[in-house]
Amino acid sequence: MAADIAFLASDELRGRFTLSPDLRVAAEFLAARYQELGLVPVGPAFAVEFPLTTGARATRAPGVAVTRGGKARPLPAGSFAPVAQSASGTAAGPLVFVGYAARSEVAAVHEDGPPDPAGPAYDDLAGVDLQGKVALVLLEVPGRPDPMKLYTRLRDLGDRFNAEAAPLKAAGDADRLRALHAGTRGKMVEMLSAFVPAERLAGVWPLPEDPRTVEFELGAVAKALMAEAAKLPGPQFGFGEGALRTKVERLTKAGAVGVILVRGPRSFLTAEERAADELPTLDGLKLGEALPVPVVQVQWKTADALLGAGKQTVSKLQARIDADRRPRSGPVAGVTAEISVALDPVTAPVPNVLASLPGTDLAQEVVMIGAHYDHIGKAGEGEGECNAVRKGEVVDEICNGADDNASGTAMVLELARAWKQRPPPRRTIVFTHFAGEEMGILGSKALAEAPPFDLKRVVAMINLDMVGRLGPKGLAIGGLGSSDAWLPLLDEVGTAGLDILYEGSVATRSDHASFYRKDIPVLFFFTGTHADYHRPGDTADKINLPGMLAIGEIVGGVMLRLGDGRAVPWKPPGPGGGLAAGLPGSDPKTIVKRVKAG
Ligand SMILES: [Zn+2]
Repeated sequence: MAADIAFLASDELRGRFTLSPDLRVAAEFLAARYQELGLVPVGPAFAVEFPLTTGARATRAPGVAVTRGGKARPLPAGSFAPVAQSASGTAAGPLVFVGYAARSEVAAVHEDGPPDPAGPAYDDLAGVDLQGKVALVLLEVPGRPDPMKLYTRLRDLGDRFNAEAAPLKAAGDADRLRALHAGTRGKMVEMLSAFVPAERLAGVWPLPEDPRTVEFELGAVAKALMAEAAKLPGPQFGFGEGALRTKVERLTKAGAVGVILVRGPRSFLTAEERAADELPTLDGLKLGEALPVPVVQVQWKTADALLGAGKQTVSKLQARIDADRRPRSGPVAGVTAEISVALDPVTAPVPNVLASLPGTDLAQEVVMIGAHYDHIGKAGEGEGECNAVRKGEVVDEICNGADDNASGTAMVLELARAWKQRPPPRRTIVFTHFAGEEMGILGSKALAEAPPFDLKRVVAMINLDMVGRLGPKGLAIGGLGSSDAWLPLLDEVGTAGLDILYEGSVATRSDHASFYRKDIPVLFFFTGTHADYHRPGDTADKINLPGMLAIGEIVGGVMLRLGDGRAVPWKPPGPGGGLAAGLPGSDPKTIVKRVKAG
């Protein structure tokens, strides 16, 4: 396992980004290892390719035309752009302003006064007729910027601070550390002032008593910030509420035939971004399925013109909604809009790698064990998820992904190797390595949609994603709610001396979810996130190999029993059970049990 991780997480493989040639090198390495071990491909080759949508191509120039007072006027090119996920076609109808198309069930947590009555605390679409209409909708949610942008900016701010603080700490220069902290904190408060009043930010990242111990810890800062934001009066909006897909699906369900997006001037983090008001491009890397209707984004100054040339503006409407958190939706009198979009998807073939260990008397039944082998690449790839880190003179710009997920990949390989030393299993075991996980579990999704064998033959799927950093948090095993047989089976296998959290729900964030959605019982092994998660510091030298051996003992115990024909009947998700956005252990209601070592 150490050797495999060292290779997969080496700088030569540059972080195994799915759309890079480096992923192919990793796929060929896996295929060669299985060849050498004497396993067989499931189809013609170990690599099973799937088409990954990487963008879209316009087959005709897009258009938006606005009719007011009987006069049709096309929007100038450059003031709007189709989103890459847009449906193709033409949509026309009266224009309706729908605010953020947001909804909140969570009433305000008023610091003084009684809690709000039950019922939606906020709904931009309440009482709005959208049947056959074109919706003009703000991106994000009331009073909040793009959360990913905010996260990236905070991370950049923190990285710069920590790099500049390091030499001052080494020199014990408390005065300059104090000044550096004040400067960085000032920038943070300024960036956030449009969303959370400065006086509420006093408790976010305070200077410690001894300035020489000051540290910008992104997780802690983000947590403190979210806690402050949650205390603001008015309805609360969930993390996914601002997502483009959520909005468009809600609008379409209400009858809208086309959608015009706009980022309101208050939603930008800086004045430069507000002035630039960048439009989306067609080479988005996280496309997913096409949206149900044509969708374009316009610049906010253009949207102002759509609303009635001066009288009503997006700026004013957004400011009013944000100020008192009350919707301001309604038809734009006398205005109809026509959107026309024609896009073709652009795809690239990407390899999942599958190797089979054929069973004996139960060979028709399949047990899958899998791990994703892709990662986020180097700085500049994968929509900038990997951010370079400066260590003195050296800039590290490769996210090696040793824990995520060279660790799971190596453990799957090792289980295959170990099994070849033993009698063959009764059921067929398929060792599976997914690509495209970091782009939205795309490899497993594609495999579950178009498997090289009948999915009805699959009795269970075991997923290993980040099993290399066993620490004080112990091991988490998720997915126990997918079969009543899991807990007794795991109890029988034992704990290998580890602290273990047994989680009932099925986390949506890794590849097992694609199979759970096909009614296949799943388990998910995971040692938790850490400070090096999705950063250049996730390197092979930090892998806990003895920890991996102990985890491997448990996974191996599970696999031997499954290989030997153990029944794991599918359990349909009950109310409140099933898939969960959070990681194992995040919701006390779905924890099955915790076992402490010793
Ligand atoms: Zn992962």
